[in-house]
Amino acid sequence: MGLFSKDIETMNDLFVHTLKDIYYAENQILKALPDMIEKATDTGLKQGFKSHLEETRNHVSRLEQVFKLHGVEVEGVDCPAIDGILEEADEIAGEVADKQVLDAALIAAAQAVEHYEMTRYGTLIAWAKQLGRNDCASLLEQNLKEEKAADTKLTTLAERGINAKAA
Ligand code: ZN
Ligand code: FE
Ligand code: FE
Repeated sequence: MGLFSKDIETMNDLFVHTLKDIYYAENQILKALPDMIEKATDTGLKQGFKSHLEETRNHVSRLEQVFKLHGVEVEGVDCPAIDGILEEADEIAGEVADKQVLDAALIAAAQAVEHYEMTRYGTLIAWAKQLGRNDCASLLEQNLKEEKAADTKLTTLAERGINAKAA
C-alpha cells in the first residue's frame, strides 16, 4: 500500500497507516540490533545497543497497546525508508575493517535510525492529539522520549571518545 493509495481517505486512515509503518520499522530494528551489538567493540557502545534492544521491545508492545486502544488490528506495513536505512548500515559496516572506525560508523547508522523513529513519533503524537486520542499520544510520547535519549547517548559516546579513537 503506497502512501497515496486510495486506502487512505481520512486523517484517521493516515494515522493508522503511519502507526503500521512505525510498527514495521520497530520490528525491523529489533532484528537488526543483535548484529550491531555483535559488531560494536567499545563496551559502552555495546551496552548502549543492548539496553536499546530492551527498550525497543517495549516500543513494540506500547505500539500494540496503541493499536488496541484505537480499535484496529495490530499489523505492519512495509516501510522502504527504514529498510533503506538498515540496508545502508549493513553495507557500510561490511566495508569498514578497522574496529574503531567501525564503532564510529555504527553510531552514525544508529543515529539515522533514531532520527527516523523520532520523526515518525513526532508526527503520530500530533495526529493522535488532533484525533482526540490523548491516550494513544501518551504511549507514543514514552517511545519518543526513549528514542531521543538513545540518540543523545550515542552523541555523547561519539564525542567523548569513540570519534577520537577512530581518527
Ligand atoms: Zn524505537
Ligand atoms: Fe515508511
Ligand atoms: Fe530506537
